[in-house]
Amino acid sequence: MNNEQLYAMRHSLAHITAHAVQNLWPDAKFGVGPVIENGFYYDIDLGDTKVSDADFKKIEKEMRRIVSNDYPFERTEKPIQEALIWAKERQQPYKVELLNDLMREGTTLASELDSAMMGIGLPAGIIGVTRPEVQSVVDVSFYTNGDFTDLCRGPHVESTGKVGAFKLMRVAGAYWRGKESNPQMQRLYGVAFETQQQLDDYLAMLEEAKKRDHRKLGQELDLFVFSDLVGAGLPLWTPRGTTLKNELDNYVQELRDEMGFSEVSIPHITRKDLYERSGHWNKFSDELFRITTREGHEFAMKPMNCPHHTQLYASRQRSYRDLPIRYRETTMVYRDEQTGELGGLSRVRGITQDDAHIFCRAGQVEDEAKKLWNVIETFYGSLGFEKFRIRLSTHDPKNKEAYTGAEEHWNSTESQLASIIREKIGDEFTMGVGEAAFYGPKIDFMARDAIGREHQLATIQLDFNQPEGFDLTCRSESGDNERIVMLHCAVMGSHERFLSVFIEHTAGRFPLWCAPEQVRIISVNQEEPTIRFVEDLASRAKSLGIRVVVDNNNDSVGKKIRNSEKMKVPYTLVVGSKEVLEGRVTPRVRADLAVEGREESSYAIDQFMTSVANEVRGRVSKSSL
Ligand SMILES: [Zn+2]
Ligand SMILES: [Zn+2]
Repeated sequence: MNNEQLYAMRHSLAHITAHAVQNLWPDAKFGVGPVIENGFYYDIDLGDTKVSDADFKKIEKEMRRIVSNDYPFERTEKPIQEALIWAKERQQPYKVELLNDLMREGTTLASELDSAMMGIGLPAGIIGVTRPEVQSVVDVSFYTNGDFTDLCRGPHVESTGKVGAFKLMRVAGAYWRGKESNPQMQRLYGVAFETQQQLDDYLAMLEEAKKRDHRKLGQELDLFVFSDLVGAGLPLWTPRGTTLKNELDNYVQELRDEMGFSEVSIPHITRKDLYERSGHWNKFSDELFRITTREGHEFAMKPMNCPHHTQLYASRQRSYRDLPIRYRETTMVYRDEQTGELGGLSRVRGITQDDAHIFCRAGQVEDEAKKLWNVIETFYGSLGFEKFRIRLSTHDPKNKEAYTGAEEHWNSTESQLASIIREKIGDEFTMGVGEAAFYGPKIDFMARDAIGREHQLATIQLDFNQPEGFDLTCRSESGDNERIVMLHCAVMGSHERFLSVFIEHTAGRFPLWCAPEQVRIISVNQEEPTIRFVEDLASRAKSLGIRVVVDNNNDSVGKKIRNSEKMKVPYTLVVGSKEVLEGRVTPRVRADLAVEGREESSYAIDQFMTSVANEVRGRVSKSSL
């Protein structure tokens, strides 16, 4: 089954869900029902009726009845005026609203709806048919299956019997068209696959994902917390979490510095004027945290770092000989996300970015982009994310107002990025039309985690627009002012989001080099020589830069070992009279780090310490002990 067939199947199930709901609650009012990753949803207004778990069984049962009746999906078209009468007669106010908008705004509605619903692809609600000769919407299409009819442009499977294996997953509140001032609807989510086996595998993966949930592990491993007083979407990092975060960040910066980056630092707020010039004031309008000073000046918390960095570049006359100039900075940006959208570290209001900008001549872009690519590959390779899917994210020519800058700039930057990708990996990349940032196209690096979920990780962005807007130039060989270009490259992107992925990818079993605690020393007894030996071990480890914790308390040895395992510590040393006498230790190596088949053995203290320090320094993924 190809992607289009899978899409049609999931989309058809959105109709079937609505059909089943209509049969069970004839007064239901329907919103839209797009296809999303692995499935679909439908937004439904049931008045005061709240859909419960018990209702799920009922709805699914009704869906299966509809499926077994194998109704064909039949297409009809009506002029939009008749469609309006149809929707009014059936008391479907949401469809009436969509039709009215469609009449007023033509076909732009489809893309607006897509973004408002944050669904992938087309809503099952309504799509107009444009007659090219009049350039406006005149007819709308309908699809009927059995006694249910919906406005839709398709495509669907042939009949309701051909929808594969599906399951309703959950229900969540969702404002009509994503606006809080609109009525709240109930969003019914389902997943669907071609075969029962694929569905079962997917559900098993979800079970595994639950165990690895970064919110749960963040608590258990003492990495980060939230406080009601501080507010939603504003994680606070504990000492352990901060260590982990800093280790990852230091590695990124180390790799960058090898390619000639310099660290800079900027304030977290700015005058409105900077963002008016960059375009962020308009494009980020709802997400921008605004500040008015006591003198009445307007400031904003920065949602991005690029505009500030342009001002460092622009602070003096640059010669072509100075270029490329490469700035890096790990700093926070702030976005006013809606409370309902926040979740763990995946979406937050204070975002730590490992940001970097390169200011260079057009002819230097390719070389710089390839070096950035190598940094990304090295970093992610060392964390066990291997094969990337590369996506070229471009502007959407049908939605020009969403972007700044001239069309020809967009076309030339996009083809430049495409040729870099081709040279690097050939034609094995996908296109993300409409996925570009408002100021430039980008290369996205998508990777699968340990349980098969795909995440967008790093990006390399090419930007002609901010150099234009801020008039960034260099003095060329001939003494003229030459327009430069900017490359943006975040490796982890958002630390918070990356850590949500990384914690779940590793299930908290971090590589030795970035583990918040690398060695735990457990004392078997409270006798003086043992305690002294343990303290000596700990101070030797510390002097080599190894992060070590001593567990000296009165719990049983078994319990102490279990605690160390629960905290996923790479090396645990159990120390008693025997170890004191022999001056040797027998490390327990965390299972995923141990070389398969190797027996536990004892080492002289120095040998153990040196090996661990070398493994940390080399950022190796397997233990040598
Ligand atoms: Zn449809
Ligand atoms: Zn940037």
